[in-house]
Amino acid sequence: MTAIDLRKRPGKASMGSDRAAAMDSPTVVASPALQRLRTAHKGLGGVELLRATIQTEFPGRIAAVSSFGAESAVLLHMVAQVDPTTPVIFLNTGKLFGETLRYRDRLQEKLGLTDIRAVGPHPADLVARDPHGGLWNADPDACCFIRKVLPLERALKGFDASITGRKRFQTNARAAMEAIEEEKVRGTGEPGTAVGTRFKVNPLADWTQEDLETYLDEHKLPRHPLVKDNYLSIGCMPCTERVPEGGSYRDGRWVGRDKDECGIHLPNNLDGDGI
Ligand code: SF4
Repeated sequence: MTAIDLRKRPGKASMGSDRAAAMDSPTVVASPALQRLRTAHKGLGGVELLRATIQTEFPGRIAAVSSFGAESAVLLHMVAQVDPTTPVIFLNTGKLFGETLRYRDRLQEKLGLTDIRAVGPHPADLVARDPHGGLWNADPDACCFIRKVLPLERALKGFDASITGRKRFQTNARAAMEAIEEEKVRGTGEPGTAVGTRFKVNPLADWTQEDLETYLDEHKLPRHPLVKDNYLSIGCMPCTERVPEGGSYRDGRWVGRDKDECGIHLPNNLDGDGI
């Protein structure tokens, strides 16, 4: 697999200060297949929706996507209950906290997940766009694009659906999120990769922070070690800060920037984490 030449993408002379994530976002669609899925599983959430999609709708063709962040243990515990061999895609951007990598190992052992796939940026993309590792500061959208968006697109090739841990309360862009969505495959820029659609399953869409805390307690799941230091939403180290007392959930992400999503979940009808 070759690295994408970011400079050759249509309508984009260079990554520069443009919003790469928005340009390359998938388009939300609503096919008869989506309508059928929503009707068939209306009202389902949590582990019931996971059972329906992992075992019935997309057996062998669905993968979970996890950041192993602050509340990731909830979704991963549910996935493991349904089928611990479900592929779990972990975006190892190369900029994560060491605590996150150790937390991933701890959860893998505790939950018995057998297929965690750590995917990372293509070396050629790093050489071309981020040779000194400072792109996160110069152009965070471009950094997220090569470290998260493209690796996820490569990892999801061949899957008909992905599972996310997104919640409506997290950001404005997620406030109207449905439990099941459908998007055009955005591809990696390589010929033949932007074909068809892919479903996105959001079993925690209507969960609140309190629901998550209760679940973590009831199932005695380990917390990400940085949560106790007031990191409420945990992504890459350069772009994540503690949330000051009284601050809100995403206040520690991309502080001082007009950015609250990394781009992997942005449909192009929104201007707006995912992970
Ligand atoms: S969160 Fe920051 S360091 Fe991580 S990929 Fe995005 S811009 Fe780069």
